Amino acid sequence: MQRIVILGSGESGTGAAILAKQLGHDVFVSDKGLIKESYKKELLEHGIEWEEGQHSEDKIFNANEIIKSPGIPEKADLIKKIRERGINIIGEIEFAFRHAGKCKIIAITGSNGKTTTTTLTHHLCEIAGLQPRLCGNVGFSVAKLVADDLKTGEINNPIRLFVCEISSFQLDDCQTFKPDVAVLLNITPDHLDRYDYKLENYVRSKFSIIKNQSRTDVFIYNSFDPIVKDFMRDKNFKIKAKKIPIRKNQLEQYRNLSNLRGVHNFFNCACAVSAAISVGANYEKILGGLKTYNPPPHRLEIVKEINGIEYINDSKATNVDSVFYALQALDRPLIWIVGGTDKGNDYSPILKLVKNSVKAIVCLGVDNSKLFEVFGKMKKPMIEANSAKEAVELATNFAKPGDVVLLSPACASFDLFKNYEDRGDQFRAAVLSQ
Ligand code: ADP
Repeated sequence: MQRIVILGSGESGTGAAILAKQLGHDVFVSDKGLIKESYKKELLEHGIEWEEGQHSEDKIFNANEIIKSPGIPEKADLIKKIRERGINIIGEIEFAFRHAGKCKIIAITGSNGKTTTTTLTHHLCEIAGLQPRLCGNVGFSVAKLVADDLKTGEINNPIRLFVCEISSFQLDDCQTFKPDVAVLLNITPDHLDRYDYKLENYVRSKFSIIKNQSRTDVFIYNSFDPIVKDFMRDKNFKIKAKKIPIRKNQLEQYRNLSNLRGVHNFFNCACAVSAAISVGANYEKILGGLKTYNPPPHRLEIVKEINGIEYINDSKATNVDSVFYALQALDRPLIWIVGGTDKGNDYSPILKLVKNSVKAIVCLGVDNSKLFEVFGKMKKPMIEANSAKEAVELATNFAKPGDVVLLSPACASFDLFKNYEDRGDQFRAAVLSQ
């Protein structure tokens, strides 16, 4: 029995605690914030000791190993103190992986498209008759599912498979994690505050998904992403896994094979198909699955067409890159709802697209000055809104039959909304109540 301390009790921390307890360890959970009621209930049910609103160092520094939430940065005081004491720190994915037996793992990372590709890969594997579990950043934590499967013996089922969405923060806390199939979708500068503002550190973090792979594993990657391409040119970087590059000329076929819109989604399809085939899915079977896949909400989600005006919710587009793909995917005149908390956006990659396809701009944020500064020069109608409802009303006033009202904010949502889901839900409700 070891003493395992878990820092942070969200989905991943609670899952890790449940798995550690089930493995017979002495488990303690410490969260500096408040723990959600549903997670408290789970901890209680499993007889796990926890604290909230503080970190009691005397109960933490006696750990044999510490599992930390991906949200806690390396520069946090507590983490520095733990490092000084030489206690090993890992993440929930690493911990779960050590106990996942012979189950196959598909791990998907990238700056954009992770959730779409992960849920699509899961769907395709299911259609092909495998028994995939959706986990990681989407759905349940890997640890919780491994705990479940250990209990039922499913962990030894030869067609059991984990399809796992992984962020760079989660990869940073991995040591031996070795997916059978790793997918790297793309890399655009993001979260640089956690990487000493050095793109190279962020790129290394993303590429660490393949660091433990061997010859029998598979690495699927974006062969036309400039940052990915550049990094792979480095001769000192050795890749042992079988490489499967996804090329631009493979994408167009998915326009007819899937119901998704936009070249970025055709790319996601190509990655998902390759990943599913790599774990033994039958090609003919999964092709049918492309048509029956329902994408998760808030990603180019078609809400409704009213009086010939189509309303699309792309609230998850919290950076400029995803807006680029949204604008490219829609070939009708657009009324664009944009804005929120700007994370230092550089709008230059979308200037041309905005100029050509946007008729009017509705700014949905507390401080819209940067938007006015950048897009004001285009002399298009621009107006401010303080709520999703107001934004929908104003956008509708600009729209004519055949137009699209697109919420694709390029910004985080925390100024006016709880999160991107809240923003998208309020937009959808406003559209549907018209
Ligand atoms: P993630 O989980 O990486 O945030 P999502 O699948 O949730 O990715 O999509 C986030 C946003 O990025 C959405 O606006 C979506 O339309 C857009 N997007 C999806 N796939 C891609 C891609 N391959 N490249 C660029 N943007 C994408």
